[in-house]
Amino acid sequence: MAITGKVALITGAASGIGRAVAIRLAADGAKVAIVDLAPADDVVAEITANGGTARGYRADVSNEEQVQKAVAQTETDLGTVQILINNAGLHPDPPTKIMDMSTALWHKTFAVDLDSMFFFTRAVLPAMTRSGWGRIVNLSSASVYAVTPPGGAHYVSAKAAAGGLATALAVEVADYGITANAIAPTTVRTPGALHLGGDAMLEAVLATQAIKRVMEPSDIAGVVSFLASDDAAMITGQVIHADAGSTRV
Ligand code: NAD
Repeated sequence: MAITGKVALITGAASGIGRAVAIRLAADGAKVAIVDLAPADDVVAEITANGGTARGYRADVSNEEQVQKAVAQTETDLGTVQILINNAGLHPDPPTKIMDMSTALWHKTFAVDLDSMFFFTRAVLPAMTRSGWGRIVNLSSASVYAVTPPGGAHYVSAKAAAGGLATALAVEVADYGITANAIAPTTVRTPGALHLGGDAMLEAVLATQAIKRVMEPSDIAGVVSFLASDDAAMITGQVIHADAGSTRV
């Protein structure tokens, strides 16, 4: 595999999609760094038990200083980050309409869901560009491209920007062998999504999908694995609609 021995840093990988991505990239042969506010000891233990290499780092991804420390520690412990998965994010939980939304909530959502992507990208790029190979994937959302329940303007706006960031970045890093893409999933069965809407929300989302199966974290991990591989070397600046046909059918 092309990513054997490469270092993959995944944010928000103590739970949900990030966790599945960490386990999948480790199975693909990458050395995995998990950056999360929450402890990721069980993910690290699972990867290690399966013969992989993983480290967990506690950090708030919206805090630039903590981001820089986490990247520096990863580079010291595991080596140059060549795969960055900007996954950590807040759901619009509870949903909050614009007329009821505080400026603080707007800023916090942007800080965690978008500023974090900028901080991590800028922190890993010096070493990644020197290495001459890299993959950056931002988690966007199908909610940008579909009509969704009210109360998610802060989330949807930040997720739209996550796609824009990948597209703009792709042009800047192409000469260094680096691709930058975003993935826009529809609702995925994760702790964060279930807290927001429970099984009832999953059922409602199914009605919007061409494929009548609830999306699982491993479905997104498979897309990330492909984007990280050399088979995806010519895919850059794209938003991949991994949404069971909910926005394009
Ligand atoms: P989740 O809530 O299950 O897990 C998110 C993880 O991010 C948690 O481990 C949490 O501790 C971590 N995190 C949150 N804030 C953080 C911070 N400030 N610093 C460090 N870590 C922080 O989330 P999920 O459902 O797996 O979603 C993962 C990503 O995918 C998010 O960006 C989300 O917006 C996006 N997404 C999810 C869905 C879905 O339906 N689950 C759909 C589209 C996009």
